Amino acid sequence: MSELVEKQREFFFSERTFDYRFRIDQLRLLRNMLEKYEKKIYQALKQDLNKSTFDSFTTELGFLYNEIKHTEKHLKEWMQDDLVDAPITHKGTKNYIRKEPYGVTLVISPWNYPLQLALAPAIGAIAAGNTVVIKPSEYSPSTSSLLAKMIGETFDSNFITVVQGSKEVSEALLNQRFDYIFFTGSTAVGKIIMRKASEHLTPVTLELGGKSPAIINKDANLSITAKRIIWGKYTNAGQTCVAPDYLYVHHKIKDKLLKEMKKQIKSIFSTNALDNEDFVRIINENHFNRLVAYLSNGTVAYGGKVDRNQLKIEPTLLDDVSWEEPVMQDEIFGPILPILTFEHLEEVISDLKPREKPLALYYFGEKEKDQEKVMNSLSFGGGCINDTLYHLANPNLPFGGVGSSGMGSYHGKHSFDTFSHHKSILQQTTKFDLPFRYPGGKLTLSLIKRLMK
Ligand code: NAD
Repeated sequence: MSELVEKQREFFFSERTFDYRFRIDQLRLLRNMLEKYEKKIYQALKQDLNKSTFDSFTTELGFLYNEIKHTEKHLKEWMQDDLVDAPITHKGTKNYIRKEPYGVTLVISPWNYPLQLALAPAIGAIAAGNTVVIKPSEYSPSTSSLLAKMIGETFDSNFITVVQGSKEVSEALLNQRFDYIFFTGSTAVGKIIMRKASEHLTPVTLELGGKSPAIINKDANLSITAKRIIWGKYTNAGQTCVAPDYLYVHHKIKDKLLKEMKKQIKSIFSTNALDNEDFVRIINENHFNRLVAYLSNGTVAYGGKVDRNQLKIEPTLLDDVSWEEPVMQDEIFGPILPILTFEHLEEVISDLKPREKPLALYYFGEKEKDQEKVMNSLSFGGGCINDTLYHLANPNLPFGGVGSSGMGSYHGKHSFDTFSHHKSILQQTTKFDLPFRYPGGKLTLSLIKRLMK
């Protein structure tokens, strides 16, 4: 591990990555690599999670192509120094912010979008001129080994490399001195990463999880709301960090919404999702068992059937649930959707305010005043009004958590900024020298006070 990091550091010190052309060429290589291996990528994602080609393209590959395209288009402008103004006391100076790559970076990624979450941060790291070590998840082995093969064949390992393995490998990597660590995964492991990073004072981005609510008010357009919730929740069988974890529904519309949601589950995932060849499976038996135990935490209003051989769980709506149930304690990360009800929006706000800040929050309702109230009163990483998940596919919106759902953000320019140190530089003139900063000069303190106040 130390040799690998040292070699990358040497490569970084050669300053090859500082060049715009070099970065653009590497992004092109990355896109060509994805195109060349597209079929193999679909196969690997099918093996790891039973993802369909449609899902694999829309949520993994297509997302990456889009990020690469957007980065190529804007990189020159992002790399430029930002000139800034200066106060009168700085007459004669030029002041600018230079975007400097950190150096050797580490990207640790999870299994749920195993390609996208390993490579999207890497795009930012490359664009900003860093070298990258990627540690993908051991729970999506087909995609992780394909990633290692593709990257190994395409790039100089002193520039980008993939290190496969489990927790122990990750820990060994964390013993090395990296210049930046970008972690995507659980809140519990996020704390470990931050602790380890503190030993070298390495800056971190932590993209974590949490319980993301969807609040549905009585003035919501129910058919469209149902469709967007069902899509957002059951895509990837609920194994999405920003999936709505549970619903908070106005009691007056609950029955109607339930009816619409059942209709939408059938329409999007078929009447028998367990027989749907494209319905995503649960990643492993441990998670399957954890999720099955939640099924008794309320009344199953729809679904509830499971197939242990295939590790599949039907899209399930769970009614009559309380905060005391285990299903409401931790992030669900599976195709089970508990439903809570409310009478007044204020109740929801005062209930959610003291809880951990979620990665996402979704509000459904037409009244602007209520939309504003929710957006202003509650803290969350990011979210949507009248939609789910869609915010993360806009590269102009920073994607990240807050509080226990993480720190820092990425996507588009935000990835470039995340992987760049913003170095402040003041260039002073030698043509003249303003005297007032030196003690004992002719200008009195009262003049300095006037200039600086
Ligand atoms: P995880 O935290 O268990 O694992 C993530 C990565 O960390 C893996 O590569 C794993 O090998 C490594 N790891 C595990 N234990 C470690 C340790 N003790 N020391 C060092 N490294 C260790 O997460 P997961 O189960 O793979 O993913 C699910 C979680 O990720 C969910 O909580 C989900 O919400 C979150 N997530 C967040 C985002 C986001 O963008 N914010 C995206 C996807 C998933």
